[in-house]
Amino acid sequence: MQITIEKVKDEELKPLYTDAAQLGFGKVFTDHMFTMVYRKGQGWVEPKITKYKPFEIDPAAVVLHYSQEIFEGLKAYAAEDGRILLFRPEKNAERMYHSAERICMAPLPVEYFLEGVKTLVNMEKRWIPKAPGTSLYIRPTLVGLGSALGVHPADEYLFYVILSPVSAYFKEGFKPISLYVEDVYIRAAVGGVGNAKTGGNYAASLLAGAKAQEKGFSQVLWLDAKERKYVEEVGAMNMFFVFGDTLVTPSLSGSILPGITRASVLELAEYLGYRAEERMISIDEVIAGAKDGTLTEAFGTGTAAVISPVGSLFYKGENYEINNFQVGPITQKLYDKLVGIQYGREEDPFGWVQEIGRF
Ligand SMILES: *Cc1c(COP(=O)(O)O)cnc(C)c1O
Repeated sequence: MQITIEKVKDEELKPLYTDAAQLGFGKVFTDHMFTMVYRKGQGWVEPKITKYKPFEIDPAAVVLHYSQEIFEGLKAYAAEDGRILLFRPEKNAERMYHSAERICMAPLPVEYFLEGVKTLVNMEKRWIPKAPGTSLYIRPTLVGLGSALGVHPADEYLFYVILSPVSAYFKEGFKPISLYVEDVYIRAAVGGVGNAKTGGNYAASLLAGAKAQEKGFSQVLWLDAKERKYVEEVGAMNMFFVFGDTLVTPSLSGSILPGITRASVLELAEYLGYRAEERMISIDEVIAGAKDGTLTEAFGTGTAAVISPVGSLFYKGENYEINNFQVGPITQKLYDKLVGIQYGREEDPFGWVQEIGRF
C-alpha cells in the first residue's frame, strides 16, 4: 500500500499538552489522521495521511440516516525502554472486518487497517504520553457514504483513524465501580447486532445509562433481551464473576461484543492457574453469590480501563456489595499482569505485544 502523506507544516502543528493528567478521554486529538475510501468498482483506494480536520459529506450519506457505522478502539503504549507497543492490533482489524460484514459494509482488509494504524501512530509518536497509565487511544472508524436516501447499503465507504492521548483511567487509584442492573431496557438481542462494534448499539444504550448515572451508578449491567434473566455485559465492558478460584464470564451468545480484553483475561487466568468458564450466568446466581459470599470478586474488561473492579450491584431496589466494595486479589493480579504486558514491563508469553517503532 502506497500511503500519500500530506504533512502539516511545522509552524502549524498543534501545541502539545502540558499535563497528561488533564487530558481526560478522547478530547484532544493529534495533528494528522489516516483516511482511505472504497468505491464500487474500484475497491479500497487512496490511502492518505492528512491534517486532522472536519469532513465534508453529502447530507444524504447512508451513515447519517441508516447508521452504517462501525468502530474500533485500541491503544499505543510507551514502554520505558523507548519501544512503542500495540496490544493484539490484528484482533481489532479482524473484529472490524466481521462488524463490517454484519452491517453490510465493504470490509476493510486486515493488512490495510494495520498498516494505516502503524504508519499514523509512528508519525504522531510525539503525542504518545509517557506518564504511568497514560496511552495514545486509537479510534479506527468505518462509515457508509453515498448520496441517495433509498434504504440500501452504501456504494462508497470512508475508513479513517484518529488518535487521542488519554490520561490514566484510574486517576484516584484502582477503585471499584457500582453498577445498576437494568431489568427494563435492553442493549441488544440475539439475532441483532450486539456482537458488532457499531454506534447503533451505543445509541440504544444511552437512555438507560443516563438514568443509572442520575441515580448515582457508574454504568448499567445489561441482562438478556428475552427473559431479563442472564447477565450480558456492561456498556463498553465484558463482565467476569469470581467464585473462589473460578472465573465465570457470559458466553458469546451473539448479543455480546466479543472483547479482546475478555479473550486475553480468559487466557491469562488459565495461565496463572485459575479456572475460567464461559457459560450463561443468571443474575439470580450472581445475587445469591453476593449475598452468601461465594461470589468473591467481580470486574469488567475493556480497552479503556483494561480491568475495572465492580464493588456493588443494584438490582430490583436492593444494593448488593461484593467483597465489601474492595478490590479483590484476583482482580488486582490480572490487572497488574495484563497492564504490565501492555506496557512491556512484564514478560509476554503469549506474543500479544507488538513493537511498531521507537522513540
Ligand atoms: C469495545 C467493547 C467492549 C470491550 O472490547 P475490548 O476489545 O476488550 O476493548 C465490550 N463491550 C462493548 C459493547 C464494546 O463496544
